[in-house]
Amino acid sequence: MRLTGKTVIITGAARGLGRACALRFADEGADLLLLDIARDLDDVPYPLGSSGQLEHTATLCERAGAATVTAAVDVRDARQCELAVEQALDRFGAVDALVNNAGIASPSGKIAHDITEREWSLMLDIDLSGAWRMMKAVAPVMVPRRSGSIINVSSTAGTVGYRHFSSYVAAKHGLIGLTKAAALDYAPMGVRVNALCPGSVRDDPVLEGRMLAEIARSLEVPVAEHERIFVRDQPMNALIEPSDIANAALWLAADESRQVTGSVLTVDGGFTSR
Ligand code: NAD
Repeated sequence: MRLTGKTVIITGAARGLGRACALRFADEGADLLLLDIARDLDDVPYPLGSSGQLEHTATLCERAGAATVTAAVDVRDARQCELAVEQALDRFGAVDALVNNAGIASPSGKIAHDITEREWSLMLDIDLSGAWRMMKAVAPVMVPRRSGSIINVSSTAGTVGYRHFSSYVAAKHGLIGLTKAAALDYAPMGVRVNALCPGSVRDDPVLEGRMLAEIARSLEVPVAEHERIFVRDQPMNALIEPSDIANAALWLAADESRQVTGSVLTVDGGFTSR
């Protein structure tokens, strides 16, 4: 029970890796505020997490014994981010960890000069600025307690380039830059900031994640073919499981990693080390 008595906020918690982290953290005794946009966006060509999925994540966490609150929050909206943190304080009295997990896949697998201004802005607004907004809302609450862990879910695309993914790669590289700089800002105040970089994670039907499927769609290759290519190029010969990412996030949230800040924890089976 490594998170007993701790409150964790998770964005993008309706499904996928957000749900995987929520369930893992619930098992370890955390109180949870689960956030998701909980509606679709015109400019994202696939369904985002729904309010029903967000409530389902909460139900699963409550079954595991976690006090759980949900809120529809779009990380593009600073006020909604602030209100969410206020909600966590009202309900739980403190915030100990934030998992900045909300994100979208590249709207389309385009060469850099074909990306529209709108597609570019949307990607950076969610995958990079969204994490900054949540950090901006939560840090002032963590600093006076001289304690807190912020986990920014980047990607292997935050450390290496991928063809036809420049907006996603730029956002995820930016998130690592933000992580390193913020880690230095907050280290003297006892607040840690780390980046977590998953490789290609299996879309688990129970978790309802769909990032891998959407990446395959944008590249116009079947999911099975995309998985085959990744596994072929992956030294450990397997897709990453959502639990691999949730366990890494758990360690970054827990006191066991108390001397870890500004780090980039890559969970990719060796993919980016080739
Ligand atoms: P997913 O699409 O299944 O889930 C993402 C969640 O984020 C959805 O529930 C969605 O509604 C939410 N979201 C999107 N925009 C939002 C917004 N503006 N405000 C609030 N919530 C919003 O994807 P996933 O696979 O669970 O990915 C989670 C994170 O992990 C993302 O940041 C992604 O870039 C990163 N990642 C995933 C993989 C992978 O293979 N799945 C690999 C590397 C990195």
